[in-house]
Amino acid sequence: ASNPVTTHAKMTHYTDTSRIASIVSSVRAGFDSGVTQSIEYRKGQLQALRRCLLENREKWTEGVVKDLRMDKLLQTSEVDFTVAEIDGALKNIDKWVQPESVNVPMSMAPATGYIIREPLGVVLNIAPWNYPVSLLLKPLVGIIAAGNAAVLKPSEVSHNTSENVANLVPKYLDPKLYAVVCGGVKETTELLKQKFDHIIYTGNGTVAKIVARAAAEHLTPVTLELGGKSPVVIDDTIDIPTAAKRLVWGKFLNCGQTCVAPDYILAKRNIYPKIMAECVNALHSFYGKDAKISKDYGKIINDKHTQRIADLVKGNNVYYGGDYDVDRHYFQPTLVDNPKLDSKLMSEEIFGPVLPFIPFDDVDDAIRIIKQRAKPLALYIFSQDTATRERVLKNTSSGGGGINETVNHVICKELPFGGVGDSGVGSYNGKHTFLTFSHKRSILSRSGMAGLDPSIRFPPYTDFNLKL
Ligand code: NAD
Repeated sequence: ASNPVTTHAKMTHYTDTSRIASIVSSVRAGFDSGVTQSIEYRKGQLQALRRCLLENREKWTEGVVKDLRMDKLLQTSEVDFTVAEIDGALKNIDKWVQPESVNVPMSMAPATGYIIREPLGVVLNIAPWNYPVSLLLKPLVGIIAAGNAAVLKPSEVSHNTSENVANLVPKYLDPKLYAVVCGGVKETTELLKQKFDHIIYTGNGTVAKIVARAAAEHLTPVTLELGGKSPVVIDDTIDIPTAAKRLVWGKFLNCGQTCVAPDYILAKRNIYPKIMAECVNALHSFYGKDAKISKDYGKIINDKHTQRIADLVKGNNVYYGGDYDVDRHYFQPTLVDNPKLDSKLMSEEIFGPVLPFIPFDDVDDAIRIIKQRAKPLALYIFSQDTATRERVLKNTSSGGGGINETVNHVICKELPFGGVGDSGVGSYNGKHTFLTFSHKRSILSRSGMAGLDPSIRFPPYTDFNLKL
């Protein structure tokens, strides 16, 4: 992850920094009241969050359209996939909260061992701007289900959505336990001085280090959901038009501002011209010849990011696209032909609608290029050859990924979503979110009856010969 870009704040709802400490302590008092011990209370809060999304669907949608010009699919996914996450939690919470029985050594008999899923306490949830509803509220689902209180910090960059969060969430959730703090660096810095029981941060690696350092002061555990350069390896065993469509969809969705978007393509040399040409066909069939007028093509979040992407493209061989308009936050879908491996384009996460292609002769060359970079959040392989898939998987590492697919692994609730190395720490999704925000409390429970302890247990230890 790279490129923290600061933008001028446009939100009206910035939280007064002098209030932040008392907001956090009042949320902590709410948690300490013990109300979240009740599973019915948690369900009630989840249902309230559900209503908050569905009763205000138009406002949420308007927000993401104003912020990012999100297309119909993304508008739906921001609201409905979050609702689906809530429904999954409501359906399964009674199962999730059950203590898990484990075997204990015979020497303890009669005894049982079990793991209680205990709430951690107060969780700070700092979210980014690119999927500003779901990346804030999906973790919240597991935070609530696991019985925690929370402070939400939406991104000031997606300010229309952040206004919605500030206005709508407190109307539905119990304000004693769930608070929203709005603002940018100053407000987040103040927040990070407070003690939390867990912090989840989604965003770039530079800020993640600031968060981790602040968390270390209080020994607070962190979940860091970051980014990176997610590669695609494509060989000549695949149906090229099918692959091109899936690639172009995953890359240009939300104008490339997706943490698991394919960042660059490594294509076998004998299909290299064909895959680039088919990607152009896919772009035309999705967005027409002029993406600027397509209602399905998004916009860059702000002028600074538009300029940042333009600077990344500069000096490279543009195969298709390259047009941009900083004032209108427009960046044409762009394909780049064989950039230098040490170029800025191939060193920083692109996080925009620019897709570089690099040819390879042997899959080991592709693996080498991937391994010269930090471990990415996702890695994609397009190949019908199982040996090639295995070779790439076994010789690389990534947070997650897909075979003959892009991006969609993140919507599979059974698959924990998170990074590895520079792309993040920890993961969440469905039940995994509940587990991330629960403490595993291990209990050994023995009978209190007399006469159960073997004589060798207690001192003095003469003729000690314990067999385990
Ligand atoms: P951003 O700039 O909105 O930052 C995220 C949060 O950090 C915001 O709430 C912001 O207020 C806060 N912040 C910014 N600077 C800060 C500072 N100096 N101190 C304290 N807090 C600060 O979002 P971004 O980082 O531009 O988001 C893009 C990055 O996020 C990309 O690298 C992308 O890959 C990654 N990302 C990862 C995931 C994931 O789930 N793994 C999802 C989306 C985005």
